[in-house]
Amino acid sequence: MFKKVLIANRGEIAIRAMRACRELGVQTVAVYSEADKNALFAKYADEAYYIGPAPSSQSYLNIDKILEVALESGAEAIHPGYGFLSENSIFARKCEEAGIVFIGPPSKAIEQMGSKIAARNVMIKAGVPVVPGTEGAVASKEEAIETADSIGYPVIIKASAGGGGIGMKIVHSKEGFKTAFHSIQSVASSAFGDPTVFIEKYVEEPRHIEFQILADKYGDVVYVMERECSIQRRHQKLIEEAPSPVMTPELRKEMGETAVRAAKAIGYENAGTVEFLYSKGEYYFLEVNTRLQVEHTITEMITGIDLAKQQLRIAWGEKLPFRQEDITYRGWAIECRINAEDPLNDFAPSPGKIRRYRSAGGPGIRVDSGVHMGYTISPYYDSMISKLCAWGQNREEAIDRMNRALYEYVVAGVTTNIPFHKAVLRNESFRKGKLTTHFIDDHNIIED
Ligand code: ADP
Repeated sequence: MFKKVLIANRGEIAIRAMRACRELGVQTVAVYSEADKNALFAKYADEAYYIGPAPSSQSYLNIDKILEVALESGAEAIHPGYGFLSENSIFARKCEEAGIVFIGPPSKAIEQMGSKIAARNVMIKAGVPVVPGTEGAVASKEEAIETADSIGYPVIIKASAGGGGIGMKIVHSKEGFKTAFHSIQSVASSAFGDPTVFIEKYVEEPRHIEFQILADKYGDVVYVMERECSIQRRHQKLIEEAPSPVMTPELRKEMGETAVRAAKAIGYENAGTVEFLYSKGEYYFLEVNTRLQVEHTITEMITGIDLAKQQLRIAWGEKLPFRQEDITYRGWAIECRINAEDPLNDFAPSPGKIRRYRSAGGPGIRVDSGVHMGYTISPYYDSMISKLCAWGQNREEAIDRMNRALYEYVVAGVTTNIPFHKAVLRNESFRKGKLTTHFIDDHNIIED
């Protein structure tokens, strides 16, 4: 196993990766910005290095500085966490060139999945179902209108280089098409430096279902159950659960094997997630996330597989320790992302100092967090306080435990979305597992 690993991230995910390292007897190196001088993750590490001012462009995204620290500290590998440089193919390539192991897929796989059009085309060739749409980029407005007509409205116009829910627009009829087309083209150029757009059928009432995969360096790939992440706000996930309430053993096998085929088609290695939209018995490939996801915890809870440790083992060159048929699950797990944001004010971020903090606990509860009493949530980074996860023998018990944990959880000094989570858990449709990605828009959650 590696002797020393650098964690190129901050907050709870930095701690998560370090916990995996420590359990495997690996020394850890943290890098931190000015804003994170006193952060828990920097103290948790065996060694910590200052890498620059608070803005991430000058610290957590500074490739050269991070590689310099890796070489100076003698780290043999880098765990990128999620966000920041985790899906940056240039960073992965520079690690490869510097002789440092990037704990993730090869840079080529990241690069291929960074372009939505390229990803679609690879998947079509591999026999993975994609949402009906254009074969490649749409060259002109005229071609775009023609395509939209033939696909049938509503359609969604997407920036090929888009991500994080930015660079897509739903169009319900021919009237609004022209304006939407130009606006996405200009967002695509300004936000991603690439005006290429394409068109997909807008799938109505979809559920977001994703498959966790693990792939070793020897071509073996397994799927490790699915997660349903339909409770989203502006395409950002808020509550996830595993397994999915609509899953059957047959559908799981079919979608899981499709996810494995998708991973093999791009020469995938390490942990990854294949995302699908599911609607009325049909499923469509959406994208591959080439990193450990925020919500990997719930998969760990139902399968007992430590995904972060598997990442280290795979990167070190070990073979997968299980075959597909060895992977089983027990019970149900749910994650609520506890954010410092105001659900009554359009979820505006609410950074500031945490004056009182008492975490939830007890049977079936797991809390992954990078904060503590007296900690100041910085406006420079995302506003997540913690990931509160609950396990139960079945979905009902998981919900009841989550509900109980939300009542135990005390965070004072900043506004949090805890009341919002409580309201979702009370909601009749949620309790029945009737979910779509429009759940939050369709229900008046706080007042219900
Ligand atoms: P990003 O890369 O920005 O995260 P994705 O392609 O993964 O974008 O889509 C994010 C979310 O947008 C999905 O979870 C889903 O809610 C919605 N979405 C994307 N494509 C479609 C589609 N064709 N039909 C309906 N909803 C879609």
